[in-house]
Amino acid sequence: MENCLFCKIIAGDIPSTKVYEDGFCYAFRDINPQAPTHILVVPKQHVASIAEMGKLPDDALCAIMRAIGKIAAQEGLENGFRVVSNCGPDACQSVPHLHFHILGGRQMGDQMA
Ligand code: AMP
Repeated sequence: MENCLFCKIIAGDIPSTKVYEDGFCYAFRDINPQAPTHILVVPKQHVASIAEMGKLPDDALCAIMRAIGKIAAQEGLENGFRVVSNCGPDACQSVPHLHFHILGGRQMGDQMA
């Protein structure tokens, strides 16, 4: 997708710190971390948000979910972590390419929102 920041990151046109990649998804460190570990997991196929996740093929959906667990283990988050996907303006989504935030490395607040 032209002019999509995360499509450019996946293509290597914008630098990122890669932590994981497979045929379906790419994961990299958030540029403005909200926790000691803050990673974004994105599908290689462009869809705007979790509301459009049904447009992805099943193998891509499975790959993303599996990748989250693999990355958490790779990052040593055995004490726990939080996964967030902001969708649309009410959730303050700022990049319209589906992504899952993996947040960990500290005690999270007990309020989700
Ligand atoms: P959201 O607000 O849920 O759409 O999340 C977008 C995330 O992308 C934010 O946490 C940003 O810090 C992050 N971000 C924006 N630009 C970059 C970039 N060039 N590299 C890594 N993360 C980025």
